[in-house]
Amino acid sequence: MRCPLTIASQRRVLCVFPAYTPSFGTFSHAYPLMRRVRAFMPPQGLLLIAAYLPESWPVRFIDENIAPASPADFAWAEIVLVSGMHIQAPQIHDIAARAKAAGKVAVLGGASVSGAPELYPEFDYIHIGEIGDGTDRLIARLDGSVAAPPAQMRFETTDRLPLCDFPMPAYDLIRLDHYLIGSLQFSSGCPYRCEFCDIPALYGRQPRLKTPQQISAELDAMLAQPGHPPVVYFVDDNFIGNRKAAREMLPHLIAWQRKHGYPLQFACEATLNLAKQTEILSLMREAQFLTVFVGIETPETDALKAMRKEHNAALPMMEAIKTLNGYGLEVTSGIILGLDTDTADSESRLKAFIDLSQVPILTINLLQALPRTPLWDRLQRDGRLIADDTGLESNVRFLRPYDEVVATWRRCIAYAYDPERLFARFAHQVDATYANRMIGPARGKLTISNLRAALVLAFNVAFRVGLVADYRRPFWRAAGRALRRGQIDAVLGMGFVAHHLIQFSREALRGEQNASFYSTHGREAAAPPDPQGVPSLRRSA
Ligand code: SF4
Repeated sequence: MRCPLTIASQRRVLCVFPAYTPSFGTFSHAYPLMRRVRAFMPPQGLLLIAAYLPESWPVRFIDENIAPASPADFAWAEIVLVSGMHIQAPQIHDIAARAKAAGKVAVLGGASVSGAPELYPEFDYIHIGEIGDGTDRLIARLDGSVAAPPAQMRFETTDRLPLCDFPMPAYDLIRLDHYLIGSLQFSSGCPYRCEFCDIPALYGRQPRLKTPQQISAELDAMLAQPGHPPVVYFVDDNFIGNRKAAREMLPHLIAWQRKHGYPLQFACEATLNLAKQTEILSLMREAQFLTVFVGIETPETDALKAMRKEHNAALPMMEAIKTLNGYGLEVTSGIILGLDTDTADSESRLKAFIDLSQVPILTINLLQALPRTPLWDRLQRDGRLIADDTGLESNVRFLRPYDEVVATWRRCIAYAYDPERLFARFAHQVDATYANRMIGPARGKLTISNLRAALVLAFNVAFRVGLVADYRRPFWRAAGRALRRGQIDAVLGMGFVAHHLIQFSREALRGEQNASFYSTHGREAAAPPDPQGVPSLRRSA
């Protein structure tokens, strides 16, 4: 549904989504290998608020990951609406400065301002929390006036709009072919309480749900755009936060796939105890889920207990990963270094985990304390929070020496993304995971745009990875194994993913990238809500 208010004015709204600083999880080095791709994933939260605005208000939508908003865009607008996560704080400030310089009223909503409103004093209006009564009051205020208020005004949602009443995100305002993957939200919230995670405080512990019909309608809208991404990411905080709901939604997803000839594949983030849900796993396989991001965080059981993530230890970790692989799901793992429980042995344990798990993609980050988390509260009590302007890679005063923690991070990413090791892990996936995927009919995928995109990617992977790169030999060893099994998609996938990971890790090792991608130095709340859940941009599940 759209905003239910009776509106008196017409307001021109410029929605601006801040750029991300590149990270392991944005795959930015892969974009040049692809036709038209220029950004990672459509920003669900800001697209949602764009769709909720009054129908009579013209909206321009700019994702600055694709192209910056121009002076003409600011000149056109009466209201500049911004949304972002903590990691985009510098870019959020920059957009506010441009809006103010253009004399426009600036509004900020979403996860970052909801967690830490004090970071954004320059905005005229801030929206705290999810879409709901606060949003309606804000819209009513803007309907009445677009003059900047004498002091910042705050609109906080106490009565959230149920997800089943969410409008369809404004996919019509963006070009989906500019994105590497599509995004879709089914649920919001997570029942767990991991110490470092702000999801329970921001989105609640009782997952709230869209209807299967909403999901089908959104997929229809994506499919209607030629050149839509081939993979759609469920940005839910934890796809199995409500297992019953996931179990009941998946047959609808399968029915949609069958009806359209299996045009899409899916990815999501979920807790590792997904491995115990064999019925859900079977349905995910049938719906063509390819990848699941799991916040494994650490292979050390005591550390999991200390961070209140015991659910990751509900069954032996390697067995759980093997089970997920058995249903064709490649696991992507989030890892945290700098935990209070880290010892001199943690590095060798992590390296052993990488070798044993054969997980190809790991986002290894330093611990960062986010506002509105139990971790933040504890560290504040203990005087262990560091101001963001210190130039350090994290806002946490680690128990181990800082230089040692950062050096460990450097050695671990060097180890994980050594090309020989990385491609060996992909080669393992050929038999352990990719061979277990359901081969659906290709009818839905056979479009002219898809064919063109595949040809461009195949050429670029063959040339830039298979011929020119210094890691061509390990690439061909893994690719050859996949080709012998007829896994053409896997060859292209491992080609562009590895290309990004190797390039990015080399930059990070040269000191050109941050060790913590939650750190605000050197680098999104959607207007409410912000369920973007980018795998390595937000730490969840
Ligand atoms: S880290 Fe994941 S499992 Fe833990 S509370 Fe956050 S979303 Fe839930």
